[in-house]
Amino acid sequence: KKYVYLFREGNASMRDLLGGKGANLAEMTQIGLPVPPGFTITTEACNEYYAIGENVPDGTWDQVWPALADVEAATGKQFGDKTNPLLVSVRSGAKFSMPGMMDTVLNLGLNDDTVEALAANTQNERFAWDCYRRFIQMFGDVVLEVEHYLFEQILETAKEKQGVRFDSELSPESLKWMVGEYKKQILRSTGKPFPMDPKEQLQLAVLAVFRSWNNDRANVYRIINNIPHDIGTAVNVQSMVFGNMGSDSGTGVAFTRNPSTGEKALYGEYLMNAQGEDVVAGIRTPQPIATLAQENADIYKQFVENSQRLEAHYRDMQDIEFTIERGKLYMLQTRNGKRTASAAIRVAVDLYHEGVISKEEAIMRIEPQQLDHLLHRRMDGEAKLQVLAKGLPASPGAASGKIVFSAEEAERQGQLGEKVILVRTETTPDDIRGILAAQGILTSRGGMTSHAAVVSRHMGKPAVCGCDALKIDYTQKLVAIEGVEYPEGSLFSIDGATGRVIKGEVKMVDPELSEGFKEFLGWADEISRLKVMANADTPAEATNARNFGAVGIGLTRTEHMFMDPERIPIVQEMILAQTLQEREVALEKLLPMQEEDFYGILKAMEGFPVTIRLLDPPLHEFLPHSEELIVEITKLRMSKSDPKALSEKESLLRKVRALSELNPMLGHRGCRLGVSFPEITVMQARAIFQASARLVKEGRDIHPEVMIPLTMGKEEFVMMRKLVDETAQAVMSEQNVKIPYHVGTMIEVPRAALLADEIGKVADFFSFGTNDLTQMTMGLSRDDAQGKFLPIYLEKNLLKTDPFVVLDRDGVGKLIDMAVKLGRSSNSGLSLGICGEHGGEPNSVEFCHIVGLNYVSCSPFRVPIARLAAAQAAV
Ligand code: ADP
Ligand code: MG
Ligand code: MG
Repeated sequence: KKYVYLFREGNASMRDLLGGKGANLAEMTQIGLPVPPGFTITTEACNEYYAIGENVPDGTWDQVWPALADVEAATGKQFGDKTNPLLVSVRSGAKFSMPGMMDTVLNLGLNDDTVEALAANTQNERFAWDCYRRFIQMFGDVVLEVEHYLFEQILETAKEKQGVRFDSELSPESLKWMVGEYKKQILRSTGKPFPMDPKEQLQLAVLAVFRSWNNDRANVYRIINNIPHDIGTAVNVQSMVFGNMGSDSGTGVAFTRNPSTGEKALYGEYLMNAQGEDVVAGIRTPQPIATLAQENADIYKQFVENSQRLEAHYRDMQDIEFTIERGKLYMLQTRNGKRTASAAIRVAVDLYHEGVISKEEAIMRIEPQQLDHLLHRRMDGEAKLQVLAKGLPASPGAASGKIVFSAEEAERQGQLGEKVILVRTETTPDDIRGILAAQGILTSRGGMTSHAAVVSRHMGKPAVCGCDALKIDYTQKLVAIEGVEYPEGSLFSIDGATGRVIKGEVKMVDPELSEGFKEFLGWADEISRLKVMANADTPAEATNARNFGAVGIGLTRTEHMFMDPERIPIVQEMILAQTLQEREVALEKLLPMQEEDFYGILKAMEGFPVTIRLLDPPLHEFLPHSEELIVEITKLRMSKSDPKALSEKESLLRKVRALSELNPMLGHRGCRLGVSFPEITVMQARAIFQASARLVKEGRDIHPEVMIPLTMGKEEFVMMRKLVDETAQAVMSEQNVKIPYHVGTMIEVPRAALLADEIGKVADFFSFGTNDLTQMTMGLSRDDAQGKFLPIYLEKNLLKTDPFVVLDRDGVGKLIDMAVKLGRSSNSGLSLGICGEHGGEPNSVEFCHIVGLNYVSCSPFRVPIARLAAAQAAV
């Protein structure tokens, strides 16, 4: 088996075998860049090494020595030679870059003899001994595993003895003294003398690189970055070039574009008279790369040419290591550079305009999730932070404000123009106005899809959830974190992108939808087949959604309009009505309010469909909690002051109790409300069509789509549709206008999916409500599962992902696929979409594309993410 490849035998496509570094060193060699000669021992050798119990596979060394001979021939030097010695570096390098996680040894091949030869040949004694002491230190640390600090102590002593501050000022005598001390230290620590035989040094170093694949750092890095544990590292053995040969030598790193902004300009640093990691180690302050143009115009020009060539060759921004040895430039590494989200977009857009990549390639270069960072206010990267605790990064963006512990207080302060952060153990729908008024939400309980998290994401508010270090005391109005108490009004900041909770105020920077970003998303729309709509409940949200590129509203939740404090008493009046007449009086009052809501939303989304869902939640959600009523009743009883109020409250309590349900999720909700109280459906339909009639008369191009929730069969849908159609007809003839409209249904009860062909005959569209559909298909109550046993399922690998976050393709997805086919079989014009939380999650969007939906609908802030995901699914 071939375990060893010379650089000139490999190329960039061999990353699996040669690792990223090795493959790119080979590629650079192939295209004629100045790379010091060398060879790569394959990842297969490393995997084999582990497979046979940490032994180098047979035949490896037999291939290494001839490869080394080849390098000797190419450099004209000989390994271990006493007159012209070859020195090499031994570098780790896996398929995926794991910067700094594994080990590298430089200057290998030095010993008491070769160091003298190096000194004589270079006529630079100081340089030779500097290399030697660096080598013993690195080899001692990495290969022989002698504690690093023991060498540092000797270095410090040497500097003290000579009375200098910097390593570079050490005299040859001091360096020689250090070499002696280092060797003694190694003998003390390992019981063996430092190996003088270069071949033995090389073998030991190769083994150390194999071992470093499995060190703790590397293991943790792989877990965090989802890199498999079984792909192994390659080992690169490369002839040394020296940046530490004097003032005409140096070493540096550079990006071909700015990795934080994407701007097209060489970005990097270098140090003269330095080696390897000196630039990053902060031994001396490095110079910006532009300075090299003055210091050595010729070398700079070469470097610019080389890096441009590399970028053109790899067709992406490169991160490059280089070294200058006595005025000659060498390229030591190149890879696709890591970058921020905004840089990623700028680079992709620029590369397209430069004619380097296609639009499709540009689209594939960006992770949809990355866009999240660009769509919210975020912390100034430069700011210094005092982090108090960490929770879940529930909704991206950052916020600063005074902490408050109730929704009412948040609202009150908000009206006074104060910036507040709402701190709760968890939030409920009652807190919605407080959430709206707050800059950010912080909870001590609940997960990534808890109420606080979902609502915050929907509104584009930063949120940190499930931060269990917070001990909230509502009565004393304070929160304790690690024993320190913070009263209401204390200044906090939260970073919803990382979950950090920070003391004090932090400087924020605004998100910017750069022209490049808009252009980029425009390409996405050209490529994708799925349309992206938004879930929006107010004209402001609709406008926001339009700005983010939504082409319609896939879900307007009418109940959110009922929660308004001005309306809630009327809504309660409607719910508590004893007779039809009483209820109609209340509905009569609600009608104009709903009409205004729909008027505003339809107008804001002019030219696009607006899907309005009729009332969905169980009615008792609009009533006070029975616990609260009991407290009030008890107080009234004790004071005996107001018998009328008492009897009113008591009758209210009876009604609340009568309406309360054991299992509201499967209870009296959705179209079941319309079946029991058709007058509610009629009122809502009337509000929709009266608003539409006005807009049509104003010459507006509007497209209302009425959506019936929670349908479980055709008969039920037909009954609801009849109410809507009749109301539409009535309004149209009253007002003498024609309103283009559709009536469709949510598919969120499994039975509706099973009978989709039947329902398809009578519906104009389906919208998969995947939150409920997931709950009912899996029999999982979202609110009960997420905080409690779902994490255990994930941990035990019974589920790969949270099915409320990433659509469960196997089960729920199968049902959707089936419903799509059944629905289209009976109605070829059926329009199909999804409006659950999944509509903005890239993996789920891809699934929607695969099963052939027409659109996805998600919260306005996720629209750009869904647009990109939809395009990627189509490429
Ligand atoms: P890492 O993966 O941590 O960057 P590298 O293998 O790239 O480790 O090497 C560490 C440092 O040593 C880099 O700065 C690199 O440029 C330098 N280096 C590696 N090999 C050589 C060599 N043959 N000659 C000169 N410098 C080298
Ligand atoms: Mg490197
Ligand atoms: Mg639902």
